[in-house]
Amino acid sequence: MSEFEAVIGLEIHIQLQTKSKAFSFDSTEYGALPNTQVSPISLGHPGTLPKHNKTAVEMAIKMGLALECDIRRINQYSRKNYFYADLPKGYQITQFDTPLCNNGYVTIKLKDGIEKNIRLTRIHMEEDTGKSMHDQDLNDTLVDYNRAGTPLIEVVTEPDVKSGEEAYAFVTEIRRLVRYLEICDGNMEEGSLRCDANISVMPKSSKVFGTKVEVKNMNSISNVKRAIDFEIQRQIELINAGGTVDGETRGFNGLAGTTFSMRKKEAINDYRYFPEPDLPPTIITQEYIDKVKSKMPELPRALFKRFTTEYGLSEYDASVLIDDKLSAFYFENVCKLSDNYKAVSNWITVAIRGYLNENAMSIDEFKLTPAQIAEIIDLIDKGAINHTIASQTLFPALLESPEMSPSSLVAELNLSINSDTSFIEEIIDEVLNLYPEKVEEYKSGKKGLLGMFVGEVMKRSKGKADPKMTNQLISLKLDQ
Ligand code: ADP
Ligand code: MG
Repeated sequence: MSEFEAVIGLEIHIQLQTKSKAFSFDSTEYGALPNTQVSPISLGHPGTLPKHNKTAVEMAIKMGLALECDIRRINQYSRKNYFYADLPKGYQITQFDTPLCNNGYVTIKLKDGIEKNIRLTRIHMEEDTGKSMHDQDLNDTLVDYNRAGTPLIEVVTEPDVKSGEEAYAFVTEIRRLVRYLEICDGNMEEGSLRCDANISVMPKSSKVFGTKVEVKNMNSISNVKRAIDFEIQRQIELINAGGTVDGETRGFNGLAGTTFSMRKKEAINDYRYFPEPDLPPTIITQEYIDKVKSKMPELPRALFKRFTTEYGLSEYDASVLIDDKLSAFYFENVCKLSDNYKAVSNWITVAIRGYLNENAMSIDEFKLTPAQIAEIIDLIDKGAINHTIASQTLFPALLESPEMSPSSLVAELNLSINSDTSFIEEIIDEVLNLYPEKVEEYKSGKKGLLGMFVGEVMKRSKGKADPKMTNQLISLKLDQ
């Protein structure tokens, strides 16, 4: 039995979240009643003319720049002709031999910390089709044309991906980037981000790729990984059993974790691409590219570098914080008001994230301001409250009364360390248990030992116990 290696190329469709469609003013809003966002242009009625959506081009350029691509200056559109029920015009407007972007790459980080670049073949602009629904009616397929004409970009990789894990890392990075750039919500369940995987296997020593199978319909990133892992195994077993892999399109069954044949690729499709006669080329100047660049946020890789160097965070903390742009920005806003960066990072990744997850909220819905979080950290660092009370009492109380300042809540709820008698009493008990003879001596009249007990408690509380209260509590205990 020979050893095999897998060769994988990914094709990612990204729906651009413009308000209107790529070539018409129809709304792109998700979830509207079927066939309500369909002007004659979307439906391709004779005599209509497409008009290009500039925002879609701007968003596409942002992605190209984020992925280190060369941006094409003269962008021609083409018609890709085929007949399908969800394609009312009978052709799709796309870019054929002049894609907007060439030569980019995505850096992925694998579990063992090793980084790898996945090269991009191209990114091109195109329009989405309508949606055929096979499961809404017993006898018929229903078609919703609301999606027809929604602007898309398609990111195509070189066959550089070697495993399900690498594909997982790649799609995760793409999703994070589109969210940072705010060009797509990255929602795979709703189909705004879709990934097709081309998979083949070949003997380890071989230089010749095997026949590829294209797997579609993975509606989550973990399903992309599962589908690829399954498909690699299926192809290896098939070859080892003496069979050959057919070039075909397969679907993924998430419940079973298996792929199934959808259609064989018997002949090469002839789409009869030709230049779209109704749209002039989009000309992109360097000036325009610079303008788009200036509107882009700092990207996760750059943030990661700064968070680990400027703020001295661990790689783990930094990677958790940059997971979404708003958490990263929130972190930096708190750090403008607090020097305890490690504590800021902990508050965001533990208490705040925990609260947001429990309530299915995102950080832009979080009620507490960076100033309030900075103040909590300051109160702890000053020794005014201890950390446990801050996270278990003050933080929840503040969420209930977000209009208050942490210090006024500490006063109102009597949370400061000085009044936290149980905190002091615990230490007193420790000290008294440690010196039973001294306790006896005190009880038999040597009252001067009180100062020694107080000093010991103060030392052990690292100066956070109120001396007067400590004094009182010890006398009370000893005089019982
Ligand atoms: P097609 O013409 O069938 O669409 P392309 O050459 O456009 O194929 O490639 C589509 C995707 O498949 C790309 O991501 C490419 O890297 C990948 N790919 C090409 N050949 C193979 C192969 N033998 N095994 C795995 N992936 C491949
Ligand atoms: Mg292709």
